[in-house]
Amino acid sequence: MHFSRFPRVRLAHLPTPLEALPRLSEHLGGPNIYIKRDDCTGLASGGNKTRKLEFLMAEALEEKADTILTQGAVQSNHARQTAAAAAKLGMGCELLFENRVEDPDDAYLNSGNVLLDRLLGANTHHYPKATDMNQAMSDMADDLRRAGKRPYIIPGGGSNPVGALGYVNCVLELLAQANDQSLVIDHLVHATGSAGTQAGLIVGLKAMHSDIPLLGIGVNAPRELQEERVYALAEETAEYIGAGGCVHREDVLANCDYVGEGYGITTDSMKEAVSLLARLEGILADPVYSGKGLAGMFDLIRKGYFKQGENLVFLHTGGSAGLFGYYQQLL
Ligand SMILES: *Cc1c(COP(=O)(O)O)cnc(C)c1O
Repeated sequence: MHFSRFPRVRLAHLPTPLEALPRLSEHLGGPNIYIKRDDCTGLASGGNKTRKLEFLMAEALEEKADTILTQGAVQSNHARQTAAAAAKLGMGCELLFENRVEDPDDAYLNSGNVLLDRLLGANTHHYPKATDMNQAMSDMADDLRRAGKRPYIIPGGGSNPVGALGYVNCVLELLAQANDQSLVIDHLVHATGSAGTQAGLIVGLKAMHSDIPLLGIGVNAPRELQEERVYALAEETAEYIGAGGCVHREDVLANCDYVGEGYGITTDSMKEAVSLLARLEGILADPVYSGKGLAGMFDLIRKGYFKQGENLVFLHTGGSAGLFGYYQQLL
């Protein structure tokens, strides 16, 4: 794998730290927990989308785009990082929001990521739940072209083979850090949503023959659907980097038992997990993704799925800006 062959624009602060969490590990009494700090990628409060955007925005620049379009939930971390990348590169940014949460309060609609989107100069557009958001983006792109603009569409979550490259690359970074620290990683765990992070990670792990098991904790779809989405994107991504066939269906593992009532809806286990990480390690998670990912990981530790003496790395995918959009549910 030779990433210099792919166009890339530097947006992230890399490498992100790989740190031990001794107080959390002791509290849970199971494996030794480490954290890969992709909440510290640095772009307008960071997160996992920044690694994807390094490759996506490079493609936009190659196509001489002047306006970036993307879509997501109202409190999308992806939208906020895209708005920041567009600002940094002098492009316009149109964010299309699907109102996935019922009866949203003022904080959800205006604080957290939404406040940052506006500060970053993006235009925001709201659509009802279950709108065909890809169609909405394509319609808006047509309008922009008619107005003389050059739009570039980034799919929700930046999850396509170009974006997933960011997480293939993250594997190289993580393995180098583990090698330097003489750390044997027994498991890698993270929150999985639009699938690009998990797809990129599994391709990187398989292509490097690392044998580290990867577990995605779902925040949205049921298990079978989530795994199929990840697998499909992993196959495409492997082809794209010239490692076709390196991922098998059974390599893709998602546990979707911690979604609760649905995407973006708070759960008690998420609240407990967010507050535990904050109080024991001084690290902020988020209510939609990393909080539910941690909740799943903590429960699996308590059930003995991860064993004492094993080294567990949680990939922190960011999102703490979303806390402010949910403050009323978190208090
Ligand atoms: C988008 C996101 C994820 C999920 O990553 P996908 O590539 O969409 O699966 C996890 N955590 C946070 C904070 C995110 O914003």
